[in-house]
Amino acid sequence: MTSTRDRLYVDGTWVPSTGTETLPVTNPFTEEVIGTVPAGTAQDAGRAAEAASRAFESWSRTSLDDRVKYCTAIAEGLQARQQEVALSAATEMGAPWQVAVMVQAGLPVISFASMEDVVGHVDWERQSGNSLLVRQPVGVVGAITPWNYPLHQIAAKVAPALAAGCTVVVKPSELVPGVAYLLAEVIDAVGLPPGVFNLVPGTGPVVGEAIASHPLVDMVSFTGSTRAGRRVAELAAAGPKRTSLELGGKSASILLDDLTGQDLANAIVGSLTGCLINSGQTCSALTRLLVPSAALDEVVGNLEVFAQFATMGDPLDPATQQGPLVSRAQQERVRGYIRAAVDDGARLVAGGPEQPEHLPTGFFVKPTVLVAQPGTPIEQEEVFGPVLTVVPYDGGDEAAIRIANGTPYGLSGAVWGADRDRALAVARRLRTGQVAVNGGVFNPTAPFGGFGQSGYGRELGPLGLEEFTAVTSLQL
Ligand code: NAD
Repeated sequence: MTSTRDRLYVDGTWVPSTGTETLPVTNPFTEEVIGTVPAGTAQDAGRAAEAASRAFESWSRTSLDDRVKYCTAIAEGLQARQQEVALSAATEMGAPWQVAVMVQAGLPVISFASMEDVVGHVDWERQSGNSLLVRQPVGVVGAITPWNYPLHQIAAKVAPALAAGCTVVVKPSELVPGVAYLLAEVIDAVGLPPGVFNLVPGTGPVVGEAIASHPLVDMVSFTGSTRAGRRVAELAAAGPKRTSLELGGKSASILLDDLTGQDLANAIVGSLTGCLINSGQTCSALTRLLVPSAALDEVVGNLEVFAQFATMGDPLDPATQQGPLVSRAQQERVRGYIRAAVDDGARLVAGGPEQPEHLPTGFFVKPTVLVAQPGTPIEQEEVFGPVLTVVPYDGGDEAAIRIANGTPYGLSGAVWGADRDRALAVARRLRTGQVAVNGGVFNPTAPFGGFGQSGYGRELGPLGLEEFTAVTSLQL
């Protein structure tokens, strides 16, 4: 399987870029360059936006049934190529094989397949007084996405946008572009009308900014860092055009003080898993563990042991739980955070900034556990690697809630307690888009999105689809 591609997908065909530059694709396990993709240009983005705008005329008037049929066909096409998607995610970003298959390749199938059900829960038309409120597709959508769940993040935008009647221009992450190409091939094979889906690879400052500022793009749906999201919103404001921003996080998992025995053990394992999944490169990762001071020694003792169980190695080995991070830059950044935290007085419980002895090659960072105080940089800032910060608290649930809500972010969270009602009461007070109560599992049709610097707008499920619509009131 090659990671080299030399075309863009625009207006229903594979075309060369108007530029001549290419971008390297690196395997983070071998550290070798394994391919290249075209470095798209602003002109390429413009051609794609024009194609999407032309296609919108007829696509927006197709029946909902037809659009859902296309989504179902895309789901089937992705399902048939699930192994290739997993292989692409594993070799280009280092996703451990189990995560690559179940999450990186599995979730996008669900996103497209779920449209059949989701459209039935959208309020397409509603009477209000003497008005009929009618939902229309918002128009041409620019989708700019990151590398950590590279196809899921594209599918979470493209599936509902298409179902709503929008057309799209996708700019995938320049670090992990392969899965977007597989999606484009599937879409080409199902015969989606030309211009409804367009793919322009390239860097953020060139292609991303061209999409965000293009006059024919009606909405930008962005997932990535808070820094780039701010820039996208700034450019879109000149339109003005609608934006939806899914940004970073620093989510807290709260252990309440009534937990004991097996419940406490489950909460510790659940929290650590929620931090380390996808080698810690998850925007909704549970990167802070809030522990009642009285339970600190027991919790830390367990974490020290559990963290060492995470098997690091080749992403293609099904036994691997922790792969390398996506890039050298990311590895250096995460190591820098660990060093700075220790210098700052945090207690290192497991892991550390060194390369694992048995893995001299690959952008690895050992699963790391630190104990730190609220308000320190390691407790406040997104690290985006396998680093768990344990934060002791005194003062009961109020103190835990205050610390959980005490960062600029608000994307996800978890609450664990023996008394479910009490845990629910705490969960309701978290200023964050998702909260898992006592291990509640990820629901791919529940709204996903943030508060504060985690962004705004919601993805997935009926609410996620409604983001791609605008309401017209017909006065009767
Ligand atoms: P990033 O912001 O560097 O890149 C994301 C995308 O934005 C890429 O396609 C990139 O090319 C593009 N981009 C970069 N600069 C841009 C600019 N000036 N204008 C337009 N586009 C630009 O983020 P990343 O490093 O790829 O991903 C990691 C970040 O994404 C983390 O902060 C993580 O928390 C966040 N993230 C959030 C969610 C969520 O749903 N909230 C999901 C996954 C990742």
